[in-house]
Amino acid sequence: MLLLMTLALILTTLLTVQPSLRQKLVQKAPASLWTLLPVSPAFSVWTQEDDSLLQELTLAQIKEETPNCFKETLRLINRKNPLPRDYTPSLVPLSGDLLADPDTAAAYTALAAGAQEPQRPPLWIVSAYRTRALQEKLHQKDALFTLPAGASEHQAGLALDLASSGKEGPDFDQTGWPDYIRGEGVSLGFILRYPKGKEAITGVPYEPWHFRYVGPLHAALMAERDLTLEEYHALLSGNPQAFLSWRGYLVCWQSGPRFRQPPNTTLLELCPTNTNGYILTFKKTS
Ligand SMILES: [Zn+2]
Repeated sequence: MLLLMTLALILTTLLTVQPSLRQKLVQKAPASLWTLLPVSPAFSVWTQEDDSLLQELTLAQIKEETPNCFKETLRLINRKNPLPRDYTPSLVPLSGDLLADPDTAAAYTALAAGAQEPQRPPLWIVSAYRTRALQEKLHQKDALFTLPAGASEHQAGLALDLASSGKEGPDFDQTGWPDYIRGEGVSLGFILRYPKGKEAITGVPYEPWHFRYVGPLHAALMAERDLTLEEYHALLSGNPQAFLSWRGYLVCWQSGPRFRQPPNTTLLELCPTNTNGYILTFKKTS
């Protein structure tokens, strides 16, 4: 009996102490940071690098030392952040006369090759790169599902509209492909760009057929935190002094034109955000 009473007392104490302890922790952490704290050690964490150890890089230095790090794959393109009128993407053939950004095309080829399962209907591409003129024409026909010229990722060759066995548009949702690509496609760098429930953030209705290439690391970080591209940009630009650390990589937003590089890292990617900044990705070397 005494043992039972003691156990009950311990349990009651734990239940009452736990919320107040949690509250204390919440109060201790800055509000903006608390929401970003990882829920598991396997997840990404924010790190503050020692300012005195950061190496300063200029664009000229980067162009000379790591010319292949320049990417377009994280550019945020929407109604608020349209592409410059003279924006010219670099494109490669994708399928038939369709064109796409080189990384997007390579990732789609890998996705299509790895997804040939007998029970799954064949996958095909309805739309990839679009010219500004074509985007304008499509928008005039259907202003609900087609963004105005400048606001579409298709103009950068970074988005693919997919279909399968006569099911395209909203019907593509019934094919099982959207869930498959949301799972497997993340490791190849794809995100479902306009998900259900995030319409107020993306400004676009749910589009189960429209996938955007952002690269495997960033797709994984967005999936981990259930973020749209708009939210991912807000997360990084809201913490410009910090580096988001994940499995040997560091990601950060910087305004340029001079950039900060943490020690013992190599610069993998430098990507303009389309919002007067850059997202930099580093790989730790030790
Ligand atoms: Zn699309």
